[in-house]
Order: sequence, then C-alpha cells, then structure tokens
Amino acid sequence: MKIAILPGDGIGPEIMAEAVKVLNVLDLDFETETALVGGAAYEAHGHPLPEATLNLAKAADAVLFGAVGDWKYDKLERSLRPEQAILGLRKHLGLFANFRPAICYEQLTHASSLKPELVAGLDILIIRELTGDIYFGQPRGRRVAVDGHFPGAEEAFDTMRYSRPEIERIAHVAFQAARKRSKKVTSVDKANVLETFQFWKDVVTEVHAQYPDVELDHMYVDNAAMQLVKAPKAFDVVVTGNMFGDILSDEAAMLTGSIGMLPSASLDKANKGLYEPSHGSAPDIAGKGVANPLATILSAAMMLRFSLNQPQAADRIESAVKAVLSAGLRTGDIWSEGTRKVGTREMGDAVVAASITGKTITTKT
Ligand code: NAD
Repeated sequence: MKIAILPGDGIGPEIMAEAVKVLNVLDLDFETETALVGGAAYEAHGHPLPEATLNLAKAADAVLFGAVGDWKYDKLERSLRPEQAILGLRKHLGLFANFRPAICYEQLTHASSLKPELVAGLDILIIRELTGDIYFGQPRGRRVAVDGHFPGAEEAFDTMRYSRPEIERIAHVAFQAARKRSKKVTSVDKANVLETFQFWKDVVTEVHAQYPDVELDHMYVDNAAMQLVKAPKAFDVVVTGNMFGDILSDEAAMLTGSIGMLPSASLDKANKGLYEPSHGSAPDIAGKGVANPLATILSAAMMLRFSLNQPQAADRIESAVKAVLSAGLRTGDIWSEGTRKVGTREMGDAVVAASITGKTITTKT
C-alpha cells in the first residue's frame, strides 16, 4: 500500500504530522510519500498542483490531504490559487462522490449549538456529487445582457446541468452506503423549481428500483436545511448535488460542535480516494500548535476503511479518539469547563497512546 501525504498550507502540516504518527503505530504494511500542494507548492514550483504531486497522487493507493489556502493568495489569478489543487486532484483522479459524515460524539454534545437531546448520538452521512452541477456547468461567464430584466446591463451567469450517468453513479453509491447503515436514503433536490433537479429526482427514483431493501425519500433543499436543525437524527444517508451538498454538509458539520472533528472522503468508481478534514487551512491559528488534529486522524481512519481495506485498523483509530475524548482531553475548539485543554501535538500523542492500547469498539461505516 502506498499513501500519498499532501499536508498543504496553514495548519495542514501540523495536523498531518499527528495523523501520520497515528498511522505509524498500527503495525500496517504501507509506504508513505510526501509532496507539496496548494500555496506551499505555488511558492516552491509556481503551481498549486505540480506534476510531481499529481503523479504521486495518481500512483498511490490513497491520498491523505491536509488543507490548502491562505488569504494572501486571493489576488493570484484563479488558476494559480491553492484551492485549484483540490479541484485538479478531484478531476484527474476521477473523484465524484464526497462522503461527509456528521457524527456528534456523546462527549461533545454540549459543543453543538443545538440542544443536547437533538444531537446526542447523531450519526448521519451526507454524500455530495462532486463533478457536476452549477459549479462546473458550461457556459459560464460575464457579458452584456441581451434580454432579461435589464437588457444592455453587465451580467454574470453559470449553468446548472447534470447528465444521467452522473446521477446514476452517485445514486448507486448512496444506496450501497445505506445498505451498510440504516438502509435509508434521503435525496435532496429542488425539483419544484429546477429542471435539472426534476431530472435528478427521476433518475434517483429509477436507480432505487434496484435497491428494494433501501427506503428512499425525496426532500426539497430548503426543507432539508430546516429539518437538519429541527430533527437531524431523522436523517441517515443524504444524497444531493454539488452545490446543495456543499452547503448542507457544512450545516451538518456545525451540528456536531466543531468542524475540527469532521473527516471526509472523495471517492472514485473503484473506491480509491482522497481523504481530508472538512475544514480549511485555518490561517488564523496556523503555527500556534492549537489546531484540532482529530478530523485529519479520523480521515486517516476513513482511508483505511474505504480504500485500503483495513476496517479493524480504522475501528482502532476511531475507538482511540473516543477514548481520548472520554478522558477529557480537548483542543481549544471543543474545550469546555471541566475538560483539559491540550495542543495539537498532545492530542495526537494521546490518540497514539490509545491506539497502541488497542481497545476497539466497532462503529458504523
Ligand atoms: P477554515 O475551515 O480554515 O476556518 C474556519 C474557522 O474554523 C477558523 O476560525 C479556524 O480557526 C477554525 N478551524 C478550522 N479548522 C480547525 C481545526 N482543525 N482546529 C481548530 N479550529 C479550526 O475556513 P476559512 O477560514 O473560511 O478558510 C481559510 C482558508 O482555507 C481559505 O484560504 C480557504 O479557501 C481555505 N479552505 C480550504 C479547504 C480545503 O483545503 N479543503 C476547505 C475550506 C477552506
């Protein structure tokens, strides 16, 4: 097994160091190779995704990614900005399914902005389509309007589009993921207004015929946004398009208290994937040793489960994280009265120690 390690910018290198430390105590047979990505790669090689980094990612069995970006790159032309590295990796690796679990650990229910009883035991999985939708649809651009409410005025436009195969493959991923969980999928759309999402709903319904053991319901995105804060535990697997998934997965992340706890995976059709924390490079706390490394450590666990076929090792990491939280250790983002505030390295060391003890609790995938 070869794992490409791409730490990136900001807190990326700090949190990645802790995840690698945890991987190294699991007695697994793998090799790692580290490469620059994002702003760090731009500084060294003039491009956020240098060819050597892309080739390493393609050759590896899985990619563990930290985070990229910094406000100082905002003035660069778009193609050279750090975030382009993520889009380039998704495109070149054929990653189309983004898994964003939102799990509220019982030790952290108080950290949520919702009442503890609404989030205690929350364990939902948002599956976001990654390659289509209004984010990539052509044509797009700026022009002088020839019609509309203000002909002759400057305007900008994007195109929302989804093809049948794009919807079919993400629907299959969602139904298959649901089979390993509570066998329930909610497909989120805006079929009442958008042609693209009426088509999405029709195709998801057709694919569902192949999964009679899985329950399917459909929900409009505005209602889904409300239900996520009203009764989040009513969901299990949520599947949706690129833009709605982007927004809803961040909303779901906040239900759990801190984005510093949430891993994510982006998978191709063969389950090869890129694994990264759901948060960004947090330039405001970079270099201070206070970032929460748990989202990255949990991303490594997802990588072991989905791409490297090591579910027991994944369980070991997830159990170690729970043990460390139960012991009262907290980084600043999840700290509360009565718990012990620790830095990035101390949190990583504690997970390493708990992983070596190896007490495992099996969790849902
Ligand atoms: P962010 O997720 O980096 O930070 C938002 C807030 O959460 C900040 O207050 C930050 O300190 C805090 N935070 C994030 N991760 C944390 C952690 N592990 N531990 C403790 N606190 C944490 O989002 P942002 O501030 O909007 O963006 C910062 C940069 O990251 C931008 O350049 C943005 O483009 C980039 N970004 C990158 C990715 C990625 O690499 N996948 C994703 C989102 C944003």
